[in-house]
Amino acid sequence: MSTSHIMSTYGRLPVSFMHGEGAWLWDNNNIRYLDAISGIAVCNLGHAHPTVHSAICKQSKNLIHTSNLYNIDLQEQLAEKLCGLSKLETVFFCNSGAEANEAAIKIARRYGHSQGITKPSIIVMEKSFHGRTIATLSATGNSKIKEGFGPLLQGFVHAPFNDIAAIENIIQKNKNIVAILAEPVQGEGGVNIPADDYLNKIRKICDQHQLLMMLDEVQTGIGRTGKFLAFQYNNIIPDVCTLAKALGNGVPIGACLASEKAGKILTAGTHGSTFGGNLLACAAALAVLDELEKQKLVDQAIDKSALITNLLSEKLQHNNQVRNIRHKGLMIGIELSKPCTDLVQQALLKNLLINVTSGNVIRLLPPLVINREQIDLLVNTLVELVTEHTK
Ligand SMILES: *Cc1c(COP(=O)(O)O)cnc(C)c1O
Repeated sequence: MSTSHIMSTYGRLPVSFMHGEGAWLWDNNNIRYLDAISGIAVCNLGHAHPTVHSAICKQSKNLIHTSNLYNIDLQEQLAEKLCGLSKLETVFFCNSGAEANEAAIKIARRYGHSQGITKPSIIVMEKSFHGRTIATLSATGNSKIKEGFGPLLQGFVHAPFNDIAAIENIIQKNKNIVAILAEPVQGEGGVNIPADDYLNKIRKICDQHQLLMMLDEVQTGIGRTGKFLAFQYNNIIPDVCTLAKALGNGVPIGACLASEKAGKILTAGTHGSTFGGNLLACAAALAVLDELEKQKLVDQAIDKSALITNLLSEKLQHNNQVRNIRHKGLMIGIELSKPCTDLVQQALLKNLLINVTSGNVIRLLPPLVINREQIDLLVNTLVELVTEHTK
């Protein structure tokens, strides 16, 4: 491969995968790798899951797409299921996380206009990630990925993550605030876990000031953190919640869930998506939700997370360059005291797929189906890698 016709937006590792099973992947030389990143929190059920496979096959034989000009029964079923699980009321379907957040941003802005606020603003967090479209990039709290794309969209005010006083301060000064958008755990930002009551406090502030509470659960959703949705740790219900990544286990689908109040804002003709919620994507997502429930995978994520992080803590306890091991379910961050982006390539040489965010945080997002043998292999390989790196 001397020349590639793919636009060079990614720094890719030199490996091509051909097939998979659970947490295993095989490359084009039939060498096996352990996947501890799940296609970036997408394949929560693991690769080539038989239930998802057969749902897609069956559906593609009948019908893949009709458009939203017509009723789509599978979309109705999926929306009903998602609303039952989240206690929200309505769903808009799209094809990615960025699109789900675009819908949320449009809801917030239109909500503002309905309140007589003609220049609505949304509070978003520093170190957040909400996508790569112009609106979601503008919302994102990472200046590096915004470079060269100005002028960005107005109407976002950034607050430090996990800082309630900063949010209150902004609201006091800015009468145009209509919503707060946050990730329950920041993924791309470095697996940043806020105080246990952070979301409860945001809920309270939103109620006090009639703001929409909007949660980006694109990465934390679908069982990743040990609850179906991460906000379920807090016994609250947001007004808007966005999903994508693991919802289709690899089949592109995004969703913007809304409460009764927020769900009435986008009326006929105000938003849309050609592919959004087509039959194939909905069939895949329904299979994913069924399987998560049947296998009790969401509950297991907590035990597996404890096992992985306890083993890592024990084996790395004397390494003073390991600053912190943090986790919410199977969203795990190992923070080192020095940069460690090289570890991704070192891990690949040991047939392990991991990720590093924020320069010095090893991020693990293993599939929820990871088994004990694979957990031991993951832990032992990681300990070797970290030990070599910090020698
Ligand atoms: C991945 C991600 C997105 C963007 O999703 P895409 O499907 O890549 O558009 C948005 N928010 C969060 C929290 C994410 O992790």
